Amino acid sequence: MKISKIKILFQNELSKRYSKPEIEELFSIFCEHDLELNKVELRFNLDKDLSDVDSEKFLEAISELKTGKPFQQILGEAQFFGMKFFLNEHVLIPRPETEELLELAIDKLRGSGFKTQGFSNGITFPQPDTQQPETNNRQLKILDIGTGSGIIPVVLKKHFPYAEVSAIDISPDALKIAKKNADLHHTEIQFIQKDYLNEIFDSNLTENKVFDIIISNPPYIGIDENVEIDDSVKGFEPNIALFSPTSDALIFYRKIAKEADRILSENGMIFLEINQKLGSETLELFRDFSEAELLKDISGNDRMIFVKK
Ligand code: GLN
Repeated sequence: MKISKIKILFQNELSKRYSKPEIEELFSIFCEHDLELNKVELRFNLDKDLSDVDSEKFLEAISELKTGKPFQQILGEAQFFGMKFFLNEHVLIPRPETEELLELAIDKLRGSGFKTQGFSNGITFPQPDTQQPETNNRQLKILDIGTGSGIIPVVLKKHFPYAEVSAIDISPDALKIAKKNADLHHTEIQFIQKDYLNEIFDSNLTENKVFDIIISNPPYIGIDENVEIDDSVKGFEPNIALFSPTSDALIFYRKIAKEADRILSENGMIFLEINQKLGSETLELFRDFSEAELLKDISGNDRMIFVKK
């Protein structure tokens, strides 16, 4: 089948669900992924005949897209922070808000003297001083709560290669993907499969007793907000990663705030992605800390909380 014919099929078959520009974009995403043709190359190759195997891939993609399945789940991967990550239906599709959370964390850590490793992902960081220990001759210890596909610990370990990074998640299926992502990026991370909310965080759980950084993008959508969430999100992404497990949408934040007393080091920092509607309530949980700041995302929504012990 010619590429031009497949393009027409995309437009005709998907027009009920997607706008014309969205279909154009989806078509070029699949051409890039399956045929390694970028947008410009695509224009000059519309007459090209595809093998049966390739044609079949596109027809399969069309039938999956028709159901509303996100293209990242069909491809089994997504770009995040300039890097490729595997994903499936057991983990959230990485969001730009979480990139902002990581930018904030990396910035604050660099500002407090931790050395970053410059690595080639298209983002420029200062070159590391590879001989120098992280800080105070002590290793930086990071904990990610509700790691899902592992995007947070992998990006942090890439930037702070000397850090000891632990990541917890309740879902064994999510952790399988997280481990695949850690391997893909050659990062060593301690993954822990536990129900964080029902664990007392202590040295039985990780070798570390205290962490310098606690970071989390926990499930933060309240049960009452269910009706506002798009079907393409709640129908395809794991609800366990989206919705708070109880009627208290802040249950994770409450536990993190309470436990920080014990498991966050002196001057340790907390970075949290939050529900945009619950900015001040979430911030309130951290009022006893020396610093607690509510920050907006690029769309102007309350989206992150930065806390210093
Ligand atoms: N930001 C996600 C969404 O709006 C929710 C992620 C989460 O609950 N942590 O779909």
